[in-house]
Amino acid sequence: MTRTTGKAWRTGACLAGSLLLVAAAMAQGRAGPAAQEPARAGKLVLWAHPPDVGRTPEEVEAFLARAARSGVDDILVLVKGMSGEIYWQSDRFQDSTAAAWKDADLLELLVPRARKHKIGIHAWLVDFVEGQRSAVYQKNLHWAQLNPAGETTLSETLGVERRPYPYVWMCPAQRPGYTDQWLLPMIEEIARKYDVAGIHHDYVRYPGDVAPDAYCFCDYCLANIPRHAMLQYEARASQRSRVRPVQERLEANWWSDPTVQPPEWDQRDRREKADFLLNGRTTPLGPPDMRYFFYDYRVHQIDRFVRESWDLVKKINPRLEISSAVFRNPVQSARYIGQQWHGWNPWTDFYTPMSYRSHFAGDFETYLERLEETTARQMEWIGRGRPLYAGIATTYLYREEQEPIDNLRAAADRLHAAGADGEERAKAAAAVREGHRVLDGTLRPVSADRSKEIAHLVEAALAPGADRATVESLDKALAELRLRPPAGFYPPEKLTRAIAAAQRGNPDGIAIFSAGSLTREDLWPALEAASREWRR
Ligand SMILES: [Zn+2]
Repeated sequence: MTRTTGKAWRTGACLAGSLLLVAAAMAQGRAGPAAQEPARAGKLVLWAHPPDVGRTPEEVEAFLARAARSGVDDILVLVKGMSGEIYWQSDRFQDSTAAAWKDADLLELLVPRARKHKIGIHAWLVDFVEGQRSAVYQKNLHWAQLNPAGETTLSETLGVERRPYPYVWMCPAQRPGYTDQWLLPMIEEIARKYDVAGIHHDYVRYPGDVAPDAYCFCDYCLANIPRHAMLQYEARASQRSRVRPVQERLEANWWSDPTVQPPEWDQRDRREKADFLLNGRTTPLGPPDMRYFFYDYRVHQIDRFVRESWDLVKKINPRLEISSAVFRNPVQSARYIGQQWHGWNPWTDFYTPMSYRSHFAGDFETYLERLEETTARQMEWIGRGRPLYAGIATTYLYREEQEPIDNLRAAADRLHAAGADGEERAKAAAAVREGHRVLDGTLRPVSADRSKEIAHLVEAALAPGADRATVESLDKALAELRLRPPAGFYPPEKLTRAIAAAQRGNPDGIAIFSAGSLTREDLWPALEAASREWRR
């Protein structure tokens, strides 16, 4: 079924698709009703946030009608967010209910109505992240991941300007801990309580984008990383053996069964243990290879959770699907974030890799080529064993359109900061003029009015003696332009071309991030046209 779905789409012909379906059914040693069904075209999946869905039956209905018109088959709806807040009426986790959803239930509003549109609703959970003030973190500080200094991810900073990192990553390994006491019970409650189509994992990994090699060195992990690799026997633990130099190559003597864990391990502090686990050597004078076991441990912990959630959900209802939003390259993400997802076929119903432009260097044309190549490689990595829907985030397609706004805002900031300083002010003014020239090149063709409005505000800000409020009005207008641009400011062809590029990599469908950005960027009609085209 999986393979057939993809192939039917690629041939674009129902007949060919049906034949493949028959062939697939026969290959599996069964024929029957499945063989008669028309092949489904490639799927269209959509991520949606609670505000996109709405809070009243009318709003929800309008959202679903819009999605159905665009050919959306499945919606991944956020039910547990980055701060650990939840959007359903929970029996057990009421403390975590999002403030604005105390008297409404997103899943209850959405699931039965979606069925009428033949749209499946998947409960999307941000798995291992919590907010600083979240109820579960405050009550269980020791469930958080720790770095070698014994600090949580709240101690991390982002970017060169070192913005504080506002989220706490929870340890996936500890038992009892966050995974078995909080996350799995949440998944169980959703699976029992709602007629959802599935559970969707996100942030199912370690915090490698902010700190690849710093987590987790909590007490549990310090004891269990060496244990996972069996660096020391538990029986006759005091009996140590050295490497026997039988082979000429130093590391070839690994099989002589040396005791790898240093003596007096228990006397070492967290920093020393972490340093050994990252930079130590299995063979004295050999290469510093110890971190291999650290990475393998992390991969094992994430694998284990994916498997456990699969086992749990399938026991409750075998028809429920498990899916995951994953980084684009499973080989590299195994090393950096413990997410070796190309091994998840046994516990996964479909993948939605986030092949977003923000994860690729280069211009738009380069992105299109890399999206195609990456998608083809992803299909190779999983051996086409499960459906894979190429993930495209619409917002990031528009770097060329957004950057001029951001640059002009930065230049206006500089102008403001320069005050009366003649030389600095002249430099900032030149940057504002240049920034405005570039922005107007994209803005004027789509809206003469907005172009005039911005030009007027730029001139006012540049006028000698312009006050703080004048520069602030320009900044406000630019922020508004970023949020609510005129129609056509974001060329819909970019979305159409990204979808076509991903399709050339032969995935089983497309996943779009997100419903809200489709609205902001005025892209629903383009999506509708594209999905109609590929299903012709
Ligand atoms: Zn840990």
